[in-house]
Amino acid sequence: MRHFPAFLDLTDRVALVLGEGEAADIKAGFLARAGATLRRAPRFSPELLENCAIAVGAGAAEEDLQALSAACKARGVPVNVVDRTELCSFIMPAVVDRAPVTIGISTGGAAPVLARQIRARIEAALPPALGRVAALADRFKAAVRAALPDIAARRRFLDAALTGPAADLAVAGRDHEADAAFADALRNSEKRPAGVVHLVGAGPGAADLLTLRALRVMGEADVIVHDRLVGEGVLDLARRDAHRIFVGKARSNHCVPQGEINALLVRLAREGKRVVRLKGGDPFVFGRGGEELEACRAAGVACEVVPGVTAALACAAATGIPLTHRDHARTVTFATGHTRDGRLDLDFAALARPGQTLAVYMGVTTLAALRDGLVAAGLPAGTPAALVERGGTDAQRVLRGTLAGVVARAPAWHEGGPALLLVGDVVSAPEAARLVA
Ligand code: SAH
Repeated sequence: MRHFPAFLDLTDRVALVLGEGEAADIKAGFLARAGATLRRAPRFSPELLENCAIAVGAGAAEEDLQALSAACKARGVPVNVVDRTELCSFIMPAVVDRAPVTIGISTGGAAPVLARQIRARIEAALPPALGRVAALADRFKAAVRAALPDIAARRRFLDAALTGPAADLAVAGRDHEADAAFADALRNSEKRPAGVVHLVGAGPGAADLLTLRALRVMGEADVIVHDRLVGEGVLDLARRDAHRIFVGKARSNHCVPQGEINALLVRLAREGKRVVRLKGGDPFVFGRGGEELEACRAAGVACEVVPGVTAALACAAATGIPLTHRDHARTVTFATGHTRDGRLDLDFAALARPGQTLAVYMGVTTLAALRDGLVAAGLPAGTPAALVERGGTDAQRVLRGTLAGVVARAPAWHEGGPALLLVGDVVSAPEAARLVA
């Protein structure tokens, strides 16, 4: 280790920034964020170092930078001259700021770009509100010490508590509930840890359309409960030793009934497990996530929802069909073509109104009935439409035409993947035509 890492308290201490320009401004902003009182000057003179706790040089004349470095080293003031390792007595790391959690990354000046790449990976892995978890731990520091004098027991408890429901609540900004959950966990620290259910949106199937929060809870899960819309690429990102339970269509071609899934989630959480219920798209868009949330709440099981990119958004983005458009659509409606008793139960009069975009989920088998209902309610059969199969994935296919044309060609065209129908003038908007030509 060539450089010794340390974190300086610069609150109300003087920081000198010598020089002008972007680099100097960035360093000045950084020091100010750490609470330092800035002293800025374009040229060096020794009195600038009066009461100075730290000095940085960037964008000044060579002789001034040299003088700054020499004077600082003589006086023992830590000095950094940007991109001039030989003039520095300390180097500035790449920083991940989740105050009070602060991570500094250094390559000893060898490859600052590598440090920035590492930082980007750490940034992606840590929730933006991680600092709230540290603040939570800080609020309970004395209480934890008093309750668990044994250091190993304390560490075990904190290991669980700082990745458990209290931490999740803190990350969500629900500090009062986080405190209650933490206090509860501390009271029960000798008992089994409380489980939690995360209803997580897995997006349309492409792994890189997951949210960072989804990635984090999947990385901490004990059990992943998933269905058929969730692809292998997404599942690969879950914690390796997490147990996987498939509740989609089984060999018998029947889904596990919703009631059984609800009961399973509650049972696993009550066993103290961290359960991720991974659902295609967004859990609250035609995903029955609401029923699972209700079941957990009714059973007194902590449940958090992590949104995902719903199929309509993924298909729109991947085909270049904007869902709203100042000239074509001021309303967008998500509808389902799923039937309960073989009949489409939709308000066709509302869906046929002009100036809107329709996104129809689960509609492939009921396309003809949908067309009939819309046309009977006054929507022209020539309205532009697109059927998007496996939207947002590498295997995406798009069938474009008029509503009548797409519906007529769909049965022969459809390969059996999940497909979404978009209807409305936005489908022929110029940007859509360009991308999907
Ligand atoms: N919760 C999911 C929807 C579940 S309903 C979401 O928010 O996306 C299942 C329907 O979603 C499918 O029948 C299909 O209409 C649509 N769907 C899901 N993934 C899709 C994809 N990648 N491409 C097109 N449609 C998709």
